[in-house]
Amino acid sequence: MINETDLEAFGYWQEQWKSKPLDMKSYQSEAQKTAIYGVNHAVIYPALGLAGEAGEVANKVKKMLRDGDFDRNAVAAELGDCMWYIAALSRDLNISMAEIAMSNLEKLMKRKANGTIKGSGDNR
Ligand SMILES: [Mg+2]
Repeated sequence: MINETDLEAFGYWQEQWKSKPLDMKSYQSEAQKTAIYGVNHAVIYPALGLAGEAGEVANKVKKMLRDGDFDRNAVAAELGDCMWYIAALSRDLNISMAEIAMSNLEKLMKRKANGTIKGSGDNR
């Protein structure tokens, strides 16, 4: 798990990112510099990694039920790991994270306008 200390040690935690929001394009660009898997593992490697990290998020939340305490920072760190795999997977698909985010917001806004936020199915 990569945390803030690791980022500082590797020089990824830049001063400019502390003083202003980090945009998706910059995040994806910086994250790409740490992607070391081979091109023959494109798509499958980050897809499996994303599934694994999503499981780690769920496991941290599960421990809230078991132990009665909630480690917010640990969940946030796992969400960051998810973001890394999303950045890598979207890069492999040649789609920017910003495009994916905008497309997702558009879908949600249409659902809201159509009164189909509740319910199930991809094509609501
Ligand atoms: Mg993790």
